[in-house]
Amino acid sequence: MVEVRLENLKKYFDGGKVKAVDGVNLTIKDGEFLVLLGPSGCGKTTTLRMIAGLEEPTEGRIWFGDREVTYLPPKDRNISMVFQSYAVWPHMTVYENIAFPLQIRKFPRDEIDKRVRWAAELLQIEGLLDRYPAQLSGGQRQRVAVARAIVVEPDVLLMDEPLSNLDAKLRVAMRAEIKKLQTRLKVTTIYVTHDQVEAMTMGDRIAVMNAGKVLQVGPPTEVYLKPNSVFVATFIGAPEMNILEVSVADGYLEGRGFRIELPDDIMEILRPYIGKGVLFGIRPEHMTVEGVSEMSHMRRTVRLRGRVDFVEALGTDTILHVKLGDELIKVKLPGHVPLEVGKEVTLLLDIDMIHVFDKSSENAII
Ligand code: ATP
Repeated sequence: MVEVRLENLKKYFDGGKVKAVDGVNLTIKDGEFLVLLGPSGCGKTTTLRMIAGLEEPTEGRIWFGDREVTYLPPKDRNISMVFQSYAVWPHMTVYENIAFPLQIRKFPRDEIDKRVRWAAELLQIEGLLDRYPAQLSGGQRQRVAVARAIVVEPDVLLMDEPLSNLDAKLRVAMRAEIKKLQTRLKVTTIYVTHDQVEAMTMGDRIAVMNAGKVLQVGPPTEVYLKPNSVFVATFIGAPEMNILEVSVADGYLEGRGFRIELPDDIMEILRPYIGKGVLFGIRPEHMTVEGVSEMSHMRRTVRLRGRVDFVEALGTDTILHVKLGDELIKVKLPGHVPLEVGKEVTLLLDIDMIHVFDKSSENAII
């Protein structure tokens, strides 16, 4: 097992025109499951490929424990990688596929057999060892790819969107299995995804990336509850956080046609911003409608009058679109909600769950 340290890691393409990775500093702890999360093109795969040794950094250093690996070839790093495309060899049986990395490393035959059966049992594919990949389902092929990755007992396991080719139901099941397997093996794991639910449910910590940079690193609940910027706040959570332009007044926030009263402690933090514009944020699940769905965990609430503009009934939840002055705000309520378009409602905001961001930097103030 090993700690992975990225120091000011950069990768530029096309003579510096494309800054794929632009100064990443990150320590992945020994045995940790770290998720690199971000939109398409933000530099996740390039970061992973540099850790694997498949891409040479333009600048910066990579450490595995106290060993610098920045320019080492992949074979000298004791890493394993699992790709979205499975990448299992079609002309080899499942057994041969899993055994292959051990043969390259010249393990004795009985040790190979022991390890292949151990990995196959962990991934529940013992019954498929004699089959060829063409005779397997997508999910089974991905299990083979994971078994082949862990069979060498790598210091670092790298996974690049390994579940995105699976159907939704299988993806949820495999998510839990990979997480359990990693917890059991305690192998340092770096997992790339653009799926925030995958990140929230699997990661010990999440590193949110955008435009080649890591914006925030922390445990899932911390990134969800205390996002440090508008980008992180809106990337995590569905439906995404409501963001409204408001200005700070003494005792309240003034929006376009609505007013949010603030308790003294919150007002104290915002005092330097009086007279200025800020961005107000609240998640749809941190509000409720008076008389419809009370939430006992809300300690301090603020009331706001609005009008129902649209109702999305999802079965398990209802998303209300509520007109608030000139703005629209989404409210997520559990179960079925008997409200019709046009109905006047009183929203209760959980005031301890509000966010305020600086308008120009978009960094969090609260
Ligand atoms: P995705 O989720 O779509 O795979 P990503 O976050 O993994 O995206 P990268 O694949 O790391 O992003 O790409 C980051 C940026 O670098 C993109 O703008 C991409 O077009 C660019 N890029 C990646 N590889 C190369 C290359 N070999 N040559 C030029 N540009 C590249």
